[in-house]
Amino acid sequence: MAVTLPAQPIPTPQRAVTRRLAIAVGALFVAGVIAAISTLLGIANTLDAKDLEQNQFYSVRAVENRITASKNYITSYAYWTRAYEALSGPIDVNWAYTEQNMGKTLFTSDGYDGVFVLDRNRTKYAVIRGQMVETDVSSVLQAPASALVEQVLSQPDLTKPISRYSLFEGWPALITAAAIIPNDERPLDELRNTSVLVFVDKLTPTKLRKIGSGYGLTNLTLVPDGTIEKGHPSVPLDSTGYSLVADLQRPGQQLLWTLVPPLGATFLVLMLLTAYFFRHALRSSQYVDNSIHAMQASNQALEKANHALEASEERFRAVAEAASDWIWEVDDQLALTYLSARFSEVTGYPQALWLGQDIGELLTCDTTPLELWLRKLSEENSAGDLRCTYRDHSGQPRHCRLSARPIFDKDSVVGYRGTASDITDEVAAHAQIQHLSMHDALTGLPNRNKLARYLDEVLILKEHSPPLSLLMIDLDNFKPINDSLGHPAGDAVLQEVATRLRECTREHDLVARLGGDEFVVVLNGMDSHNEIDKFCTRLIGSLHQPILYEQHPLHIGASVGIALSRRHGFVASDLIRYADIALYQAKSDGKNTWCYFEAHMSDQIQTRRQMEDDLRHALKHNEFVLHYQPRYKVDGKHIVSVEALVRWQHPTQGLLGPDVFIPLAEQTDLIVPLGRWVLREACETALEWPHDILLSVNLSPAQFALSDVVEDVREVLVETRFPASRLELEITENVMLNDTDGALTTMNQLKELGVRLNMDDFGTGYSSLGYLRAYPFDGIKIDKRFIASISSGTNDRAVVQAIIGLGKAMGLTVTAEGVETEEQLAILGKDQCNEVQGYFMSRPIDKAAFADLLRASRLSLVSKKGRVT
Ligand code: C2E
Ligand code: MG
Ligand code: MG
Repeated sequence: MAVTLPAQPIPTPQRAVTRRLAIAVGALFVAGVIAAISTLLGIANTLDAKDLEQNQFYSVRAVENRITASKNYITSYAYWTRAYEALSGPIDVNWAYTEQNMGKTLFTSDGYDGVFVLDRNRTKYAVIRGQMVETDVSSVLQAPASALVEQVLSQPDLTKPISRYSLFEGWPALITAAAIIPNDERPLDELRNTSVLVFVDKLTPTKLRKIGSGYGLTNLTLVPDGTIEKGHPSVPLDSTGYSLVADLQRPGQQLLWTLVPPLGATFLVLMLLTAYFFRHALRSSQYVDNSIHAMQASNQALEKANHALEASEERFRAVAEAASDWIWEVDDQLALTYLSARFSEVTGYPQALWLGQDIGELLTCDTTPLELWLRKLSEENSAGDLRCTYRDHSGQPRHCRLSARPIFDKDSVVGYRGTASDITDEVAAHAQIQHLSMHDALTGLPNRNKLARYLDEVLILKEHSPPLSLLMIDLDNFKPINDSLGHPAGDAVLQEVATRLRECTREHDLVARLGGDEFVVVLNGMDSHNEIDKFCTRLIGSLHQPILYEQHPLHIGASVGIALSRRHGFVASDLIRYADIALYQAKSDGKNTWCYFEAHMSDQIQTRRQMEDDLRHALKHNEFVLHYQPRYKVDGKHIVSVEALVRWQHPTQGLLGPDVFIPLAEQTDLIVPLGRWVLREACETALEWPHDILLSVNLSPAQFALSDVVEDVREVLVETRFPASRLELEITENVMLNDTDGALTTMNQLKELGVRLNMDDFGTGYSSLGYLRAYPFDGIKIDKRFIASISSGTNDRAVVQAIIGLGKAMGLTVTAEGVETEEQLAILGKDQCNEVQGYFMSRPIDKAAFADLLRASRLSLVSKKGRVT
């Protein structure tokens, strides 16, 4: 800066000396001022350059983090067996959209503006801003969809997602795409034709502001490429024509603006003082004073500049600490030399505790040693990310994503620096998703996926794996509880069953729920029949205990099918299938039992399954017919009653008798609709026959257990207007065996309707006499086995005589069924049986034939009567 000296002559030699002195001091002062100003400008420039660098660094970091987060997120959706099942073929819209597995929440909670499932030819599924639409992705996305799909599917590692920027509805967006593949052991090369999941994250101003504020960036926005000021840091977004920019803080310029006014004022004062000095050159002491003052002012200005510098550094520190990441620096020996204050907030450790320590002591990575990784970065002069774990101050394990970059001094590496983002929540969320996909939401038990994975792992060594037994369990009587008391009761039962199963098993066994009332127990290391039998006894016993629901005891049972790895193979799906077949067998053997798989069951069960399907079909398509067999007075001539006997007019196998299909109908609950049909059809038909002919209909014990028989009978009587007094129900004593008290109540209620009750097949059960006394029967039918042998001289005749005597003593009508010969009829007549039924008099015949028979028998009786009179 030039200083104009006043051109005032100093006549005395003393003054000349003073003038020279003044000029020297003035020059020195000017030099000092110039040095101060250039230092200040230097500092300002350095600050601005640093700001530029930081702005660029954090802008890049902000978008990189967004990309990484989006890739992680899409992986948790795309690398998922359930998603593969629902999306790789035809889309399961219910699962994807209605149940919100790939639907609205991705927009409302996660901010994805678009979700697409694509294959090589088309868009299979599209959700835009939470709404499912029939849109082709190419109409909204600038990037060609086919190229995107191809890029994902042609990667060497299919599990890797890709991302890029593209225009979405005309605005820049982050596009992340990943192949939809199962997270099981399937070889990836078989999945090259799977579909691709695409997430679109539109970079709206609001989102960008939020992303920027996390990194201390002000006003992070998108700007068309041509309009960016030269030298302004920017992050170009691929070919979208836009770049990301954030406002610069320019701390250097701010510093200058704060210092220029006081400095200018100081110089002005100094100039005035200098002028004053020359005017009063003689008063040199005063000149010195002025100079000192000026120096002091200059010092103060410098001090201020220093303060400003410190304030600016403080500001950067604040930015660093406000970020969620902590910043670290190590020297070339990997000893920590710097940790930002955020480190103590996240980890709970004071920074001082770790400064000077090896970073490897703090962080570990299970895929690579940290040191090796850092050294590799310096060799390649690149930056990188690594997932690490550590224990925080309270000993809790935490996860962080470490990013690092080598620090160079000239050409040698003097250390490394970077950030560490805490991703503990992200890892936990991922684990949670994994858990949900492997567990049943209601009971918390492992589900089918988990079971398959567990079996694959345990059976991988084939014959060298530990012996394993797979027990498939199906609850008996669960459906009626669920149907009559509602889902809350059903859920409570399932939860209690899950608890009991867990209690019955050991820690290293697996209990899983496959859905509905089907559970699986895998007994690890156990395959002796003896041990398994004991286990099943305990298990069935435990499930048999009543379950309390709102103070009501609910009763269920269980049937178990068992497959053993050592005997039946090491393929998980086969074992499950075999156990299922054995379960089917256990159910038909009578419930509350268990059954081991045997090879021959496969075919049997296949045929039975087919039969079951046919039976259902038959009910729907009216393939059943009733035949009628008359019952006579013991003379064998007077028809007193007729028994309805069901047959199945099978489309391919012809007319089938009830022995072929009734047992199956009883096991599958089809007996209920079938029984109702028989009753209605029989009543409607018998309405046309004379009023004095009774009608007998057989009721199965299963109908007692599975439906409200009283209500069923009442409804048919009311609707057909068939008189209850003409209806006889035939019941075998098995009814009493299952639920003695319940059966008695039901029978009393049936009696109250006005119908008659006959005990069928008398003599084949266990304690028939006891039942006869206690139950309200009107008659008994002696089983045909006894009748077949009464004429052969065995003691069966004595048994039949005893039954007749007993029945009569109790006031019951005694019928003998299966009378096939004249001789048998004669004996029964002699022994004073009341009524008879059998092929000798008439086989079961269809309704037209029975009507004819009835007419003929009436005619012959009338004519006989006529002849007699
Ligand atoms: P059940 O109630 O004891 O019926 C008598 C069975 O004996 C009938 O067989 C009948 O055809 C047969 N039978 C009659 N007389 C003679 C004879 O002299 N000699 C021989 N050997 N057999 C004779 P079917 O029609 O095959 O019925 C078998 C069983 O199926 C019935 O035994 C009954 O328990 C059941 N059943 C038939 N229809 C129905 C039905 O609609 N509902 C239910 N729940 N069970 C039915
Ligand atoms: Mg019968
Ligand atoms: Mg019978």
